[in-house]
Amino acid sequence: MTGPMPEGGYFVTPNTIVMSFRTTTLLLLSLPLVAVAQKRQPIIDVHLHAMTADAQGPPPLGMCTPIAEFPHWDPSVPYVEVFMAMFKEPPCKDPVWSPMTDQELMEQTLSAMEKLNIIGVVSGDLDRVKAWQKVLPERIIPALDLHIDEHAPRPEQVGELFKQGDIAVLGELLTQYRGILPTDERLAPYWAMAEELDIPVSIHLGPGPPGVIYLGAGQYRARMHSALTMEEVLVKYPKLRVNVMHAGFPMLDDLLAVLYAHPQVYVDVGVIVYTQPRPAFYRYLQAIMDHGFGKRVMFGTDQMVWPGVIERAVQVIEEAPFLSPEQKRDIFYNNAARFLRLSPEEIERHHKL
Ligand SMILES: [Zn+2]
Repeated sequence: MTGPMPEGGYFVTPNTIVMSFRTTTLLLLSLPLVAVAQKRQPIIDVHLHAMTADAQGPPPLGMCTPIAEFPHWDPSVPYVEVFMAMFKEPPCKDPVWSPMTDQELMEQTLSAMEKLNIIGVVSGDLDRVKAWQKVLPERIIPALDLHIDEHAPRPEQVGELFKQGDIAVLGELLTQYRGILPTDERLAPYWAMAEELDIPVSIHLGPGPPGVIYLGAGQYRARMHSALTMEEVLVKYPKLRVNVMHAGFPMLDDLLAVLYAHPQVYVDVGVIVYTQPRPAFYRYLQAIMDHGFGKRVMFGTDQMVWPGVIERAVQVIEEAPFLSPEQKRDIFYNNAARFLRLSPEEIERHHKL
């Protein structure tokens, strides 16, 4: 890693452990040594973004984890005022504040990845993803965000990027924000291309910012949270590998039906893992596990402009009382490795990082 990256103390390297022995031997010996020396197992975060610091509004923005109460709006005032107040005066005692600059956002995200031993599928504008990848190449799997609009790269251009190794995943597909269903004919050539070239695809199906319809995404619809909106695409392109981002929250029955009927579908827990109050998130995740779909849940954060949520999201999974250690490893790593079809060599490399 190069550049002005994180301060020491974030990293438990053999050197820092030796230093600790020298300086604080007595204190350290009273702690469980194994816990200090043991390296974290690798985690794959399939839902990271490389964005600008002002992508979600003028920084700093304070994110509560969880958001204990979602906004209540009296339409006599513009909703944007209610919404922004939630981030400018966050109603919790320990919000995660977003950094002020693009550079800090990158550094803090990459430093969280190093600290927690995360390999990330990082999506965004391709130039930005590449810039981040240059700093931490061994931990970044590049991906391309896609809106369907006049700026969208054509399917064959996306295919070229994949063939050249510039991207490994297509997504986040952000079509829901514009009211474009997965079955929309404008998406058909992308599905066909992804199936033909065997590109894993991640699509946003679930919550955007609360009340986003009244923040400008006038075509967004709540019913589009449903994983069932993907069904005809799954049938038409049966070799597609699909990650339902945000796990189609909160439309649990729809998701369970899709997971049952379409065994190739995976989900990630992006955003809901840290924004939902724990009882709500745990109920949702536990239902997926209880129904026997524990091999298809992937860890994802969707940190956006809040690198500090990554560690909190890891903690939410680690502290889930209903998950066995094996289920946690599946969610943190094994399921994503299978979905992404990582080679044995790649998996071994991740375990040596
Ligand atoms: Zn999303």
